[in-house]
Amino acid sequence: MVQRKKIAVISGGAGFLGSHLCTTLIDKGLRVICVDNLITGELKNINHLLKLKDFLFLKHDVTKYIDIKGRIDYCLHLASPASPDDYLKFPIPTLKVGSLGTHNVLGLAKAKNARFLLASTSEIYGDPLEHPQKESYWGNVNPVGPRGVYDEAKRFAESITLAYKREHKLDVRIVRIFNTYGERMRKNDGRAMPNFINQALTNKPLTVYGKGSHTRSFCYVSDLINGMVKLLFCDYSLPVNIGNPNEITILGLAKLIIKLTNSKSKIVFRSLPQDDPKLRCPDIRLAKKIIHWQPVVSLEDGVKRTIKYFKQTNSIYES
Ligand code: NAD
Ligand code: UDP
Repeated sequence: MVQRKKIAVISGGAGFLGSHLCTTLIDKGLRVICVDNLITGELKNINHLLKLKDFLFLKHDVTKYIDIKGRIDYCLHLASPASPDDYLKFPIPTLKVGSLGTHNVLGLAKAKNARFLLASTSEIYGDPLEHPQKESYWGNVNPVGPRGVYDEAKRFAESITLAYKREHKLDVRIVRIFNTYGERMRKNDGRAMPNFINQALTNKPLTVYGKGSHTRSFCYVSDLINGMVKLLFCDYSLPVNIGNPNEITILGLAKLIIKLTNSKSKIVFRSLPQDDPKLRCPDIRLAKKIIHWQPVVSLEDGVKRTIKYFKQTNSIYES
């Protein structure tokens, strides 16, 4: 008997992470339906998939009712602006996609008896008072600050996801994603990694906010996607951190990028955005234990690959 292909719906599939996930699931033999309204995503991210018979793109805003006929095995909800510049520019769409959008994708999963995976975030820990951050930490979020639109939407999304598990016995997964970088990040999405690489490649000053003493832990995209897929196919339903525990200051990152690009750029210091978390580093012991996952790409290798990608995409010279 020929086994039928499993079908996955990926909201936000035309974005940075979503497009990598679409490609990986197709490579694994699934059929993928990508649902995206392109608010921060780009069709060029999925250009290589559009002609495949196992791929379908639906331009749709998931805060509106989602109508997909036929069976679905997995619903992966990645739709949401993710860069601070994006969600500060689109505060209400961000709140809506985290709340109404999550509700709609959960409803679709329930109607189809599909497994649901939520792309959550380290931002649910806010400006953390516990370091590194374990899944058991409840976080320190300013609900009424500018970042609250993203953080609270994601906290609501986690909450409603687990309510669907408890009330409707929906099969759910929650991945708390820490800062991820790599190919297909938008050159102007405002995050530190693309900003610094583009500034360095064009010999412009690298804009470090504050003193540069804030830390982040950057995970290369292939590691992140590998962890997400492992989580999708395991049988653990509570939130799991996926990220790289190799922590670096933002000034350290700026210096590394200047070195790896052989740039003549200087570093300039700009004011720090409100509520910018001072420290961020995942405790990944849970991921190691339940899915035997840990990142394998070093920061230096990942940054080199990302620099190569930004050099190849002419768009870096537009600004
Ligand atoms: P991205 O902005 O590149 O992708 C998000 C995608 O969602 C875009 O294609 C966008 O058009 C789409 N989208 C937004 N609102 C939508 C709506 N209402 N209907 C349909 N599509 C909509 O961002 P990304 O970095 O790929 O992030 C993907 C997911 O991962 C997000 O949920 C984000 O919160 C989460 N995440 C990412 C990171 C990271 O470092 N990249 C870290 C933590 C969490
Ligand atoms: N940042 C910076 N210069 C930039 C962009 C960002 O110094 O041009 C800082 C930002 O204030 C934060 C860190 O780099 O402390 C990571 O920011 P990013 O937007 O990449 O992700 P976040 O973790 O804040 O969502």
